[in-house]
Amino acid sequence: KLKVAVMTSGGDSQGMNAGVRSVVRVALSRGLEPYLIYEGYKGLLCGGEMIKKVEWDDVSGFLTSGGTFIKTARCQEFREIEGRRKAVLNLVRLGITSLIIIGGDGSLTGADMLRAEWKEHINTLKETGSITEAQAIYNKNLMIVGMVGSIDNDLASTDMTIGASSALARICESVDALQSTATSHSRAFVVEVMGRHCGWLALNAAICTGADYLFIPEDPPTTNEWQKKMCSSLENSRSVGKNTSLILVAEGAIDSNLNPIRCEDVKGVIEKHLGYDTRVTILGHVQRGGKPTFYDRYLATLQGAEAVEAVIQATPESPSLVIGILENKITTQPLQDAIKLTTQVADEIQRKNFSMALKLRATTFIN
Ligand code: ATP
Repeated sequence: KLKVAVMTSGGDSQGMNAGVRSVVRVALSRGLEPYLIYEGYKGLLCGGEMIKKVEWDDVSGFLTSGGTFIKTARCQEFREIEGRRKAVLNLVRLGITSLIIIGGDGSLTGADMLRAEWKEHINTLKETGSITEAQAIYNKNLMIVGMVGSIDNDLASTDMTIGASSALARICESVDALQSTATSHSRAFVVEVMGRHCGWLALNAAICTGADYLFIPEDPPTTNEWQKKMCSSLENSRSVGKNTSLILVAEGAIDSNLNPIRCEDVKGVIEKHLGYDTRVTILGHVQRGGKPTFYDRYLATLQGAEAVEAVIQATPESPSLVIGILENKITTQPLQDAIKLTTQVADEIQRKNFSMALKLRATTFIN
């Protein structure tokens, strides 16, 4: 029986549990032997109890629950070659030949690296007597399939990542709640939303909550001009009868000199130039908590099934793959292409080539 392990890695996101459940159950239905790896790469390196063969009932209750029951972690040791050799040893000892990782671009990059070094590790382990000749032959290849679990929706080549829809829904609920108290006091609210270096959550939250002003990393305002522009825009809204102001700031927002734009700075500008009573709210971890939306359950379930199919169809020549969704169709693409495109956006921002960054980001979210 083909043995396939699934793990969650990097930051947690709603829908990861649904993805794990889907992989396990589709694997069983297709005659594979599924394993769970606890705490991401940390568990892969520890082995023992952290890698467990599972059955149908072991993933009961996973579909509708947020977070990740098999836990996630960041693991410094896996970044080192010796750490990755430990991972190889644990996989070979159990005869696992396919790994499905639900995580962000860092986790998927790490997995691809493990695969690239696989043969070298197998040879070293064989030479040092840690594994037998038979094990080396049986485990001569490792297949990697990624599913993108991230609230940030920050991977190119897919329209949506698992967790982004739930985080956006949570942001909208929270901002709606702020709007009613803002109205009572005619206040301005400056709200920071998550997303790291990606503005997808902030952009879409701005559309869905009717925000008056928005700062996102892909479209940085000119360093000494944004203050005036923002104030005149907020003034305009008030002059046509609005008694509140809502400004959304992506956590990775920067100006054209790559200086961070912080909520407190925005508040200071509003109070100084407009005199509005202003409050700052950092939404924080509430954005990644709670139950997944219908969309994250659906996306993770369909992608889990596709990931298992990809494992079954894989040949030694197959590249590492990532499962995505484009125009409502589940897709399977080479992992390295997706990572390369994603990294290019960050590179262009560093080079202050914002129009190119925006153009590249359009492959994910701005059309
Ligand atoms: P998120 O988007 O939520 O941050 P992520 O998967 O990008 O998720 P990271 O912290 O970048 O999160 O990566 C998670 C783990 O993956 C790291 O702790 C490390 O073990 C492994 N990893 C990340 N990048 C690499 C890399 N370049 N080489 C080897 N391993 C890596």
